[in-house]
Amino acid sequence: MFKALVIENDEQGYRSLLKDLPESQLPDQDVTLDVSYSTLNYKDALAICNKGPIVRQFPMVPGIDFVGRVTSSRHPDWQHDDVALLTGWGVGEKYWGGLAQKASVSGDWLVPLPSTLSPLQTMAIGTAGFTAMLCVLALEKQGVKPDHGPVLVTGASGGVGSFSVNLLARLGFNVIASSGRASDEEYLITTLGASSVIDRAELAEPGKPLAKERWAAAIDSVGSHTLSNVLAATQRDGVVAACGMAQGLDLPTSVAPFILRGVTLAGVDSVMCPKALRQQAWQRLGEILDTTQLSKFTHVIPLSEARQGAHDLLEGKVRGRLIVDCR
Ligand code: NDP
Repeated sequence: MFKALVIENDEQGYRSLLKDLPESQLPDQDVTLDVSYSTLNYKDALAICNKGPIVRQFPMVPGIDFVGRVTSSRHPDWQHDDVALLTGWGVGEKYWGGLAQKASVSGDWLVPLPSTLSPLQTMAIGTAGFTAMLCVLALEKQGVKPDHGPVLVTGASGGVGSFSVNLLARLGFNVIASSGRASDEEYLITTLGASSVIDRAELAEPGKPLAKERWAAAIDSVGSHTLSNVLAATQRDGVVAACGMAQGLDLPTSVAPFILRGVTLAGVDSVMCPKALRQQAWQRLGEILDTTQLSKFTHVIPLSEARQGAHDLLEGKVRGRLIVDCR
């Protein structure tokens, strides 16, 4: 038997329950693991609290990120006792996820534990940090360098945004953090390494197709008018990595930044990201991040408190990352 947080949705309604399940109920995938840690992302909280159409089939074990030890494998890449982590691939949405003591998944979705990170640290990073790293890699792929000029990060105090600020700052970039939380200015500068902070209201309203050039590149997790204004103020031949939609899914822009300034818009998707890029991103995260700093933003809770943690997250009561100890 193993413990799992299970979301059910039937004639009795939508509910999340901590259950004891027999191992025979695990999905028939080629790698089975004892989960060490999972984490609570915003997406998980929406699923657990029935606040968004995240779960595609029921019953579902939520948890889009987890790390664990392989207990059995029919996959050539994985042997008993290997430590592996997983983010995305529809796990916790379409396939059973990590908020359980055991998980059974495709070996193609797993990534080996990076040599410089502990299992707990990978979950402190989770999908948010991984997505931020993919955004940085997207800028690097287009040749963006610190001496090209400042790099803007929108949604800077959010999960993806705060990792983006920190990664860029540690790589030597001059980072402009755009945030709606004036109270976070000190945190963004002193703790994360931003050079300056601007009020997100500056970018939130409909703007002109082109504006004064202000940054060489940007990482945007906000979308909508914010992304339009970010593109409009990007320097000639600059690059914008877009990964989110905190303001909205729309993009009311024009072709002006692309055809008059040669700006590149690079899309970033962490969910279906190919394995080689995943391994590269995790390797770089281990090299760049200050892991001693990670523990300062991490709260570890037991699996039995995951439901309460999800509610707290949606009510804005959580600062930093909520890691779930599933052992
Ligand atoms: P968070 O909720 O942690 O952060 C989002 C931040 O965006 C907030 O902290 C806030 O930052 C800012 N924000 C919120 N609402 C608005 C608004 N109405 N207008 C402008 N800014 C706003 O979320 P995450 O960082 O985890 O995710 C950010 C986005 O990225 C989400 O849309 C998420 O769905 C997406 N995402 C995409 C992934 C991918 O693979 N492409 C993977 C992970 C996330 P501040 O207070 O500093 O202004």
